[in-house]
Amino acid sequence: MRRAGIGVTVLVILLAWLFPLGAQDTRLPPVFDGAAALRHVERLVAIGPRPAGSPAAARARTYIVDELRKAGVPARVEAFEAATPHGRLPMANVVSALPGRRRDTIVIAGHYDTKWFKDFAFVGANDGGSSAALLIELARRLHARQHEYTYWVVWLDGEEARESWTSTDSLYGSRWMAAQLSKSRQLPSAVIVADMIGDRELGIRREAASTPWMSDVIWASAARLGYSAYFLPDSMAVEDDHAPFMRLGVPAALLIDFDFPPWHTAEDTLDKVSARSLEVVGKVILDALPGIEDGLSPV
Ligand SMILES: [Zn+2]
Repeated sequence: MRRAGIGVTVLVILLAWLFPLGAQDTRLPPVFDGAAALRHVERLVAIGPRPAGSPAAARARTYIVDELRKAGVPARVEAFEAATPHGRLPMANVVSALPGRRRDTIVIAGHYDTKWFKDFAFVGANDGGSSAALLIELARRLHARQHEYTYWVVWLDGEEARESWTSTDSLYGSRWMAAQLSKSRQLPSAVIVADMIGDRELGIRREAASTPWMSDVIWASAARLGYSAYFLPDSMAVEDDHAPFMRLGVPAALLIDFDFPPWHTAEDTLDKVSARSLEVVGKVILDALPGIEDGLSPV
């Protein structure tokens, strides 16, 4: 097709301005700094293995809190004790509460602990590192913009099982937080969980147990931003930190790329993670939030 003449171009621009195709098409693409997120992964990996209850996990927590406070983003630490097959361990979630125009809350969460292995050093660049890093940049972006809902960005401790995955040996941080919020009748309106989203070869499937309309909104944002190659149409079931909230009736969606050969091996290292993948997921989440807010309170 030939390039349209100037007169036609002006007319097209004028018509587009007079008759916008809808809010979806006129919204600015979200801003998310993938390179900054990758630097956080690098700093976390440099700490070494960061299993829940260890001094290294405390250092990772300090890094997250310091990065937030440096950027003027509020952060608090919620400590608790968890009964594990290795005894009672001190654990702590980090919460960045970002008030909106209303008090109803949307939680965006991920874990920052790495799985404990006796036989090798597991640094969890993707599994533990990527989610923690993504959330630091998300919190910075959300702090910088106005929103209708209140957002809690949450770094969960103890997602990983100490031994093998059971209902009592896994999801320590999310189970504790969901129980606390349920007790105080402060359950969030919705929960989004990201886990293992830094894989260079990103391919996120819809998670089968997640609330379908929330996945629909997120996948629609991916398509709108031109990221359908990374957000695949098929689904698989993965139990993760969204589960304790879903069991209490909270709508939730999990974003995870479980097709990751280095999963829980010594090969889950920095070179497996890319700034691009972190940026794709960060932008998709930011883009999806207004749609999720609309889905929670239909007009
Ligand atoms: Zn894991």
